[in-house]
Amino acid sequence: MTEPTPSATRRPNPFAGRRVLVADDDRAVLSLIVQGLAAGGYDLAEAHDGASALVRIRDFKPDLILLDVEMPGLSGVEVCRIVKANHADSAFGFVPVLLMTARSTGKVEGLELGADDYLTKPIDMLELSARVKSMLRLKALQDELAQKCRDLDRMNRDLERKGLELEQLARVDPLTSLYNRRFFEERFYVEFARSQRYRVPLACMMLDIDHFKLVNDTYSHPAGDKALKELALAMRRTLRDVDLLARYGGEEFVAVLPETSPADAHLVAERLRAGVEGLSFLYDEKPLKITVSIGVSTYPLPGISDPEGLLRAADDALYKAKELGRNQVRFHEE
Ligand code: GH3
Ligand code: MG
Ligand code: MG
Ligand code: MG
Repeated sequence: MTEPTPSATRRPNPFAGRRVLVADDDRAVLSLIVQGLAAGGYDLAEAHDGASALVRIRDFKPDLILLDVEMPGLSGVEVCRIVKANHADSAFGFVPVLLMTARSTGKVEGLELGADDYLTKPIDMLELSARVKSMLRLKALQDELAQKCRDLDRMNRDLERKGLELEQLARVDPLTSLYNRRFFEERFYVEFARSQRYRVPLACMMLDIDHFKLVNDTYSHPAGDKALKELALAMRRTLRDVDLLARYGGEEFVAVLPETSPADAHLVAERLRAGVEGLSFLYDEKPLKITVSIGVSTYPLPGISDPEGLLRAADDALYKAKELGRNQVRFHEE
């Protein structure tokens, strides 16, 4: 029986194929290193001085750089400094640097400059091979970490976007795309508090479609849905961006108009009512028309000190508008 040869038992180098750049102005040393590393199956590139090492870093994109410290022109220490200073640059990224020198005194300086390891000449090939593997392991871990950070970043952005979408969904009525009642109430509180604090008027309107049950019964429920959408659009067009508009319930809408006097509120409500009356749209090629009744209240209002009170006052006025024949605007206290 023959003993297995050492190479037959050696495990394959997990870092074979990794790109290693070796820079040394001493061609004999350079070829010794390159020959020694070739057995590891690395993809090797050579440079004979600091400046060409920098060029090769850009085009070869090494996973590891072995730099001789003493080179004419740009020294290994200077190349190392440039590589480390450009760490964040995607053209470089994180690349481990192993400095090689005959001077043992430069060790501290080299490590302080961000070199990841240090070898003194004459190079011991076994030691070099072990250091190269450990540096490539470091590079692989760094790359993995960077990838995980990028994945996390992306996931965070996705989550943020989904959160915003959810927030939007939670506040919008799906049929009309207007705010829903829950969100309206939140905002109404803020507007009311602002009006109270800065003593600026605030108008509140409750709007209800007249005989809407009849619209559904006569045309169809989808036709009623279309009418709700058209009405929402008409209201949006009539009101200002700063006005708060929401679907309050089935065929009831509410609008809050900041800094709006009673006279202006009257004008807006009447324009809205007339606009809806003049609106005609088709459903299934059949013309469909609706009218609305509107109740208006404005703050300040004697006896009213909270948003619920102001809303109730608008609702009372709406009730009156219905009683008096519908398709009209009524003011609280009218
Ligand atoms: P009034 O003039 O007194 O307001 O009469 P009305 O028929 O409008 O009032 P009522 O409250 O009796 O009926 C409201 C109708 O609105 C009944 C309901 O089916 C309808 N409705 C509520 N929500 C929706 C909806 O999302 N789509 C459709 N198509 N109809 C709806
Ligand atoms: Mg040298
Ligand atoms: Mg109605
Ligand atoms: Mg109603």
